[in-house]
Amino acid sequence: MTATLDILGEDVYEQSAAESIRNEWIHVLDEIKGHQLESNISVKLSQLGFRIDPEYSFGILRSIVTAARERGNFVRVDMEDSTMTSATLAQYRRLRAEGFDNVGVVIQAYLHRSDPDVRDLVKLGANVRLCKGIYRESPEIAYQDRDEIRRSFGLLMRVLMEHGCYVGIATHDEYLVDKSYELIQKTGTEKSRYEFQMLLGVREQLRASIVGAGHRLRVYVPYGDQWYAYSVRRLKENPQIAGYVVKALLTGNNS
Ligand SMILES: Cc1cc2nc3c(=O)[nH]c(=O)nc-3n(C[C@H](O)[C@H](O)[C@H](O)COP(=O)(O)OP(=O)(O)OC[C@H]3O[C@@H](n4cnc5c(N)ncnc54)[C@H](O)[C@@H]3O)c2cc1C
Repeated sequence: MTATLDILGEDVYEQSAAESIRNEWIHVLDEIKGHQLESNISVKLSQLGFRIDPEYSFGILRSIVTAARERGNFVRVDMEDSTMTSATLAQYRRLRAEGFDNVGVVIQAYLHRSDPDVRDLVKLGANVRLCKGIYRESPEIAYQDRDEIRRSFGLLMRVLMEHGCYVGIATHDEYLVDKSYELIQKTGTEKSRYEFQMLLGVREQLRASIVGAGHRLRVYVPYGDQWYAYSVRRLKENPQIAGYVVKALLTGNNS
């Protein structure tokens, strides 16, 4: 199993805070290399000063991706809410145009726009993490129904696999894990062209079964002192998460 590290925190409004996050990321990249850890990193544009100025955050992002490249590592740019989608994809494309290939992006299956976005990304041979999407978005721009989101996830995964893009299949949904197995077979996707991704501590039995079946799996590991603010924000964004936590507490079941 491998990992991706996430320093908790979003929405930085001061340059000094964005710069200290950049320094922390470079320290993390040094530690990963020094300890030969099988880990990459997942960053958020809002944490890098996007709300101060998109151009400023691009400079910070570029310096982190440069530091990662110097250390043989990879940076995933997490996808935030729909106010950030176009800008995040644009910054990703800009890095690729500048010759960086150690960077990847995220597509959220619940957004209607994800189909054309994916069709653009496959032209770049993008490395894409595919997830359902965690923010609350309006029905005008996002599917709300579980089955529609699953259907979109499956269609997007198929397009990515058919074009040979590297796919990070980020889900704890057994239905989608089975769908992935089916598509991996149908599209003849090699083991080196995809990985499953799951959050630390969530559905560990499912995780074990995926690894046991011989697939690569990366665990998303959030850390840092912003965990309380982060958790509260996540709960406000998507109260369904509270249900998962309560269920896990009551049943002691995180399978
Ligand atoms: C590695 C990784 C990276 C991600 N990156 C992004 C991103 O960049 N942008 C973005 O918008 N979203 C991201 N997400 C979140 C994703 O969009 C979904 O909101 C989340 O994974 C829940 O969807 P699901 O596919 O797991 O299915 P669900 O049907 O929501 O979950 C299936 C089951 O898994 C369990 N479960 C799921 N999530 C949790 C949780 N948080 N705590 C406890 N139990 C849980 C529950 O038992 C649930 O019944 C990421 C998810 C993962 C795994």
